[in-house]
Amino acid sequence: MPLPAAALALAFSATIGGAHLRGDSLVGTGVSRALATARAAQIRDVRYALSFDLTGRDSSHGTVTARFRVLKPGDVILDFRGQRLETVEVNGAALTSPQFNGAHLSIPARSVAVGENVVTMSFVTKIAAAGASIIRYRDATDGAEYLYTLLVPADANQLFPCFDQPDLKARVSLRLRAPANWRVLANGRETSSRAAGTGQAADHEFAETEPISTYLIAFAAGPWTTVTSASSTRPITMYVRKSRAAEAEGDSIIVANDAAARWLEAYFARPFPFRKLDVLLAPAFPFGGMEHPGAIFYNEERFIFRERPTLTQRLDRTATIYHEVAHQWFGDLVTMRWFDDLWLKEGFATYMAAKMQASLDTASGAWKRFYLRNKPLAYAVDATRGTTPVWQTLENLDQAKSNYGAIVYNKAPSVLKQLDYLVGPDAFQRGLRRFLASHAYGNATWRDLLSAIGAESGRSLDRWGKEYILRPGMPVIEQATGVTADGRTRLVLRQRPAQTLSGKGPWPIRTSVIIGQPDGRIVRRQVTLDADSAVVPLPAGTAPPTFVYANADDNAYALVLPDERTVQWLEENISSVKDSFLRAMLWGALWDLVREARLDPARFTALALRELAAEPDEQIVAGVLGRVGRATLAYLPAERRDSALPTVEKVLRRGLADPDRPYGIRKPYLDTYIRVAGTPSALAQLDALLDSTEAAGAPLRAPTRWAIVTALIERKAPSAERRLERESRADSGSEGKRRAFVAGAARPNAEAKKDYFRRYFADESLNEDWVTASLDGFNAVRQSELTRPYLIPALDSLRWIQTNRRIFFLGSWLTSFLDGQTSAESLDAVDRFLSAHRDLPRDLQEKILQAEDELARTVRIRGATDTR
Ligand SMILES: [Zn+2]
Repeated sequence: MPLPAAALALAFSATIGGAHLRGDSLVGTGVSRALATARAAQIRDVRYALSFDLTGRDSSHGTVTARFRVLKPGDVILDFRGQRLETVEVNGAALTSPQFNGAHLSIPARSVAVGENVVTMSFVTKIAAAGASIIRYRDATDGAEYLYTLLVPADANQLFPCFDQPDLKARVSLRLRAPANWRVLANGRETSSRAAGTGQAADHEFAETEPISTYLIAFAAGPWTTVTSASSTRPITMYVRKSRAAEAEGDSIIVANDAAARWLEAYFARPFPFRKLDVLLAPAFPFGGMEHPGAIFYNEERFIFRERPTLTQRLDRTATIYHEVAHQWFGDLVTMRWFDDLWLKEGFATYMAAKMQASLDTASGAWKRFYLRNKPLAYAVDATRGTTPVWQTLENLDQAKSNYGAIVYNKAPSVLKQLDYLVGPDAFQRGLRRFLASHAYGNATWRDLLSAIGAESGRSLDRWGKEYILRPGMPVIEQATGVTADGRTRLVLRQRPAQTLSGKGPWPIRTSVIIGQPDGRIVRRQVTLDADSAVVPLPAGTAPPTFVYANADDNAYALVLPDERTVQWLEENISSVKDSFLRAMLWGALWDLVREARLDPARFTALALRELAAEPDEQIVAGVLGRVGRATLAYLPAERRDSALPTVEKVLRRGLADPDRPYGIRKPYLDTYIRVAGTPSALAQLDALLDSTEAAGAPLRAPTRWAIVTALIERKAPSAERRLERESRADSGSEGKRRAFVAGAARPNAEAKKDYFRRYFADESLNEDWVTASLDGFNAVRQSELTRPYLIPALDSLRWIQTNRRIFFLGSWLTSFLDGQTSAESLDAVDRFLSAHRDLPRDLQEKILQAEDELARTVRIRGATDTR
């Protein structure tokens, strides 16, 4: 609520009170693990009564009354790094000499009672397009303004003074003052709304929540349209901005949320843990979704399809919904004690989403999708020198962003699949039920989870935890088939760490091996591989296998590299493998050989283009063509690329135009064609496509039109600027503006690069999501010489990015800048940067090493193919 002007005079500056920011003390920047540990032993039963006035433009006045029980005498430290702390009242008395240093407020022990305490604080917090806890989004279509919060992982203390650590859960009640025509949404149910002031505003009150962690607190406000569904078994309201409401498929989004909640209630044998569930489609949202209890936020851009979606896009949307709903139990009901255990919630949400998808959408090929969406990403990071264990130490919450990435999002669910396979699905489910029952509305660690599953399965999971949760890196399995002197066929599996960081010694791997028989039959053998090598018994009296694959059903977490004999067979017969899940993995294994510089990228591309002509599986076509794109543009040296291009273009053009194939197959052909087209005739074809109303067998709509325009800009087609101008006029709403910005980043001239690079840091009106979306265009591989001067400045900016940008931005930034380079000189420059900056925090060094690996492979592959 607005404060009287007099209160402003009391505003505390960061130096009043004599406390200073010191990295080594409890009141240093961020929230240290030491502070969190001390507070967890001191504070209990927290409640926040929060109120915000959202009628201001660039900031919000707020108040919070924090009630809590103190167990032992001592100073009480609250965290706050918002714009301004104005007044503090402790147990009814104004605190006259507050110790506030811009990060923490210390309430001296003499003002604190053992037992109940009430602290009321008034403050000001920032509202901005980026870099604030309250994000403002301006809709370019109708000029409407929308606000929403996003606090994960460490920004609750930017919004209001609090104990910002996941294991001090609080019951939160909320009051929002907002313009009269706005709708509001929060974790709790809205209980009342009445006109305020002169009727220009309204005050909304929300019911107190169950105990939730601070990073999960959320609200949104704006002239949203609301949608409900008659098909939902529970009342779920979807909030979407007015200008997009007509396009949003409210019914199917709501029904998928409802179905997930019901499925999980049965699986966990626990009712939905919060009193209500609503969903919001948030514009310019930097993540896929955020699991706020009772108020899930989804990425509007990914949830509203502006053109006919492919199966992959539809499955991705459903999987995101399942992931966020699973978090209501895993993450929200039971929360990690500290962000070192981030994997607990993320690994589970993704793994449960796949289980749910396999059960609810039996035709979705859910485990194939799980493989395609997780394993390549996990292996691509876990095989690098920058990898980390699944459980990652974290000394301060302000570094928590670095713990996000492929290891927790893609490796963690993958090792859970291995665990499920190891103990069996019944013991796994009973273990999860036991875990949730023991820690409901509380916190837990990974050891609690393994002990619950261990207890239900009757086996110790100590070694499993040591190898998969605490040890960095991953195994590579090499297969070798041969015939022994006495004429018997032998199959040997050997495992080794993907890199030296893991140290020596085998992982305990439970897998099943697929063995192709000359007569076309497929035999499976279950194998426990917990030594460096194992001999797999083969069916007696049979001829040597045609092919072998040591990870049937993708239960093992290991990179399987096929033997030469298998590769030869696959080159002739991969399309004859009937099981599409297995086919997807075999294509993956061939691609892994390309990335190991053992299989020529042109050979892979030729095989792919030939075999995909008859491939019926949409997910496989999309995945393999993506690799064809990377192989053609980055792995082939320029001369070989230019000579291969006309053939690649021709096959892609034929695929996208083939009237006998469905849209879901033709669309990835079109996407890849747009990505690789480079000859003047192909660019002319692309240009001509913009004059037609249809492509790949469906109406040609804005997203694909923009992708074509961006390609024309990037490749300096003669018509490019004219096309950009025309498209901007035709699609002038907020989405069009975003796409025009993205296209501009791909302009192949030095001034454009300079301007964009400057704006990435200096333009406060830029939404972070726009910047992220433009990075790949900025770093187009064909422009590597133009962007080479930005490689080191991009690395120099990492500390700033870590402070000022959200979770996934830093990874996207690094990947884009490094994947845009292909030369040994660029690789050397990155290595020199690392040697010269050994003082860089370890997490940032690791992120660079993770991203550098693909550049190192690219250089190696190009070197190996140069001589062929
Ligand atoms: Zn998640």
